[in-house]
Amino acid sequence: MKAVPDKFAIAAALQEIGALLELKGGEYFKARAYKRGARAISELSEDPGKLIKENRLTFVSGIGYAIAKQIEELFTTGKSSFLEKLRDELPAGIVELSRVPGLNIRKVERLQEALGITTVEQLKAAAQAGQLREIKGFGARTEQRILEAIEASKKRQARVHIHYALRAAERILDYLATSREYIEGEVAGSARRAKETASRIVMVASAKRQSALIDHFLRFPLVVKIHEKTNERCFVRLSEGYEAIVIAAKPEEYGAQLLYATGSAAHLKRLEEVAAKYRLKLTNRGFNPETKSKLSRRAPPVKTETQTYKQLGMQYVPPELREDQGEIQAALKNDLPEDLITTTDIRGMVHCHTTYSDGKHSVEQMVGAAESMGMKYMTITDHSPTAFYAGGVKIDELQRQWEEIDRVQEQTKVKILKGTESDILADGSLDYPDWVLEQFDVIVASIHSRYKMNEDQMTRRIVNAMRQPVFKIWGHALGRLIERRPPFDCRVEKILDVIAESRAAVEINGDPYRLDMEPRWLREARKRKIKFVISVDAHSMGALNNVKYGVGIARRAWIRRKEVLNTLGVKAFQKAVRPV
Ligand SMILES: [Zn+2]
Ligand SMILES: [Zn+2]
Repeated sequence: MKAVPDKFAIAAALQEIGALLELKGGEYFKARAYKRGARAISELSEDPGKLIKENRLTFVSGIGYAIAKQIEELFTTGKSSFLEKLRDELPAGIVELSRVPGLNIRKVERLQEALGITTVEQLKAAAQAGQLREIKGFGARTEQRILEAIEASKKRQARVHIHYALRAAERILDYLATSREYIEGEVAGSARRAKETASRIVMVASAKRQSALIDHFLRFPLVVKIHEKTNERCFVRLSEGYEAIVIAAKPEEYGAQLLYATGSAAHLKRLEEVAAKYRLKLTNRGFNPETKSKLSRRAPPVKTETQTYKQLGMQYVPPELREDQGEIQAALKNDLPEDLITTTDIRGMVHCHTTYSDGKHSVEQMVGAAESMGMKYMTITDHSPTAFYAGGVKIDELQRQWEEIDRVQEQTKVKILKGTESDILADGSLDYPDWVLEQFDVIVASIHSRYKMNEDQMTRRIVNAMRQPVFKIWGHALGRLIERRPPFDCRVEKILDVIAESRAAVEINGDPYRLDMEPRWLREARKRKIKFVISVDAHSMGALNNVKYGVGIARRAWIRRKEVLNTLGVKAFQKAVRPV
């Protein structure tokens, strides 16, 4: 009998079909549909066999008729004739090899004919041995470029964005939970500490039999390469090119393993010093009492992190604070903030775009999504006219938008605030004339162009903007795009000094590619008693979930609930941000 493929195996096949179609070219939408289908099936909460039997596959969002047929075939025969046809048409290893910049299908075919190359590793070896230059159409320079591209792509793959890391970890933990051996598990590593990027995705799970859980994980279809494996941990590459580590812990060691896998190294080092004062040796397996110690012959196992901190006579330290930046001293004195901001404190979605500028969804859809998240208010802040590339809203369109907002308002309990994301112009003035600005409920002021001013010019520009008489929220302050564009040159402390005495607040932008400002500057802002807004900068309904990344960054800066304006009720928030 053939083994029934589970949803992840089906997803992996659909994913491969999508990738092959994309490489073949000319079928962009079909390729996308398969990738969407792959995601939909891997996120199913129901058994695919049941859905097939009841003819309900196409009821799942993301699965159309064509894809449903493929799923049925995969499920009943374990194979997809479509996938096999595509594999026949295209050279072997094309998905992996095509990731090397400069290689297309034609070139991969030639590589294969001449040298039988099907993996990047073989390609690298051949290039190093000077074999590529012998192939027609390659030459010594191409060979060099390919080597450089392989090296560069290794570096590029080194960092995983936080939203991706958390999503992948969630999927992996869901998969682990299907094993009988699994007890509980959590994402660890720097993603748990809300760092912007991680070098790899780390998860810790407690297991009845550790090695059985590891074996179960290795059957996860998105695992494409095993770097290292022991009976209690494994280090792999996932199909999307990221590295992941799963640690299977004994239940009585779970707390210590999670603590150590979460880090940071500096925090752990301090904890070990505290432990040493109690004559305890803290390791990733818990407390090992030193044999000579008179104080404690046997320390209790640490099933939870909380128990570990308690054993050391200190408060539990939330992961986002574990950086050795005063949290140990505070926890020992019972002095950690009780009112550190949490996602549930947020009552309004700030900085939302709609189809009036470059957003994907209508006012009504955005508000509906906010309502289902239990929000009390939402600020619609589409781009201003100067941001023409983002479809900035001209004054006459603005009137139409406000009429539409009034209509939507009649049907919802969420208070909709009429706002703008006004461009900070080169001289620091804000887009829209004053008589328009004054009529908004809320203004986010952001820089979207002319990033390359020198430090003096940029500082002057922002200082001017912050001193404008209207109240404004400084949007995605330093313009960084994580891993793509550095923050721009300006004297941040000087600007914060100005904000502290102006009518302005600082945005903590939850877009996982921005996460701006970064915690060290947020701490500087806190010292000056500046208020914050945790925003979503949402260009779609789904992006309202960005709020959790913004909260993560805020927690890293020790920001309290009362420092964040959108924890206020509607009336108080409106009053706090009113432009005039
Ligand atoms: Zn913006
Ligand atoms: Zn925006």
